[in-house]
Amino acid sequence: MAKIFCIANQKGGVGKTTTTVNLAAGLARIGQRVLMVDLDPQGNATMGSGVDKRALRQSVYDVLLGSATVREAATRTQACGYHVLGANRELSGAEVELVDLDQREGRLKAALAAVDGEYDFVLIDCPPSLSLLTLNGLCSAHGVIVPMQCEYFALEGLTDLVNTIKQVHANLNPDLELIGLLRVMFDPRITLQQQVGEQLKAHFGDKVFDTVIPRNVRLAEAPSYGLPGVVFDPGAKGSQAFVEFARELVARTKLNR
Ligand code: ADP
Ligand code: MG
Repeated sequence: MAKIFCIANQKGGVGKTTTTVNLAAGLARIGQRVLMVDLDPQGNATMGSGVDKRALRQSVYDVLLGSATVREAATRTQACGYHVLGANRELSGAEVELVDLDQREGRLKAALAAVDGEYDFVLIDCPPSLSLLTLNGLCSAHGVIVPMQCEYFALEGLTDLVNTIKQVHANLNPDLELIGLLRVMFDPRITLQQQVGEQLKAHFGDKVFDTVIPRNVRLAEAPSYGLPGVVFDPGAKGSQAFVEFARELVARTKLNR
């Protein structure tokens, strides 16, 4: 059975997409079968996995609206080692079109059920909002991974997200849990980041992943080559951290089985 995780945070620019594609590549590198689902109409995770969003014949949009299966719409790229269910601007229309459909927040879940045996992990890159798209992600998932920067207002923003997860857990998806907080773009030279990092540990305990992702320019450069950093420059500090994170996640997932 595939473990399905959303990478979510209602803030933009916090590292969701970078985490999704590099975790996907990291998991693939250690032998896991991975499907990456792009739920953001910006299509950054699609492009960052080497799939041209403008050339998609079918996308997650078709899957949500029921005109394609996941198997039909997913791109089986070899370069990154994982499969990609891509997105492009068409997806922003889905929000409106879904409203009139049955089970509108459960459509991705139903579609993913058909490929459950084919993957060890499904990672869903969520848009920076609590939209019907994000809700489809949260309803499909066993858990949420929250990338966050250790900044002054970080804890404040978290409260909203944690409440959303609780609500979805209570009303729509009893399987959903907060898997963990991942500290990203971390710079240990900045005292404030160290302090917030410690505060997070104090507040959330073992819900904070041990692995810390450093700020690393190779991770930021990789998307312009259509590759996750882990594939583009495996030796870079940031890439090594993501492979380490993949190992930590596999270990945690096994513990919970
Ligand atoms: P989101 O998906 O949450 O909007 P992104 O993953 O697109 O965030 O990241 C925002 C920006 O920060 C991008 O330009 C990305 O390349 C950069 N970035 C993300 N993580 C790192 C990192 N660890 N080191 C350096 N740059 C990073
Ligand atoms: Mg993004």
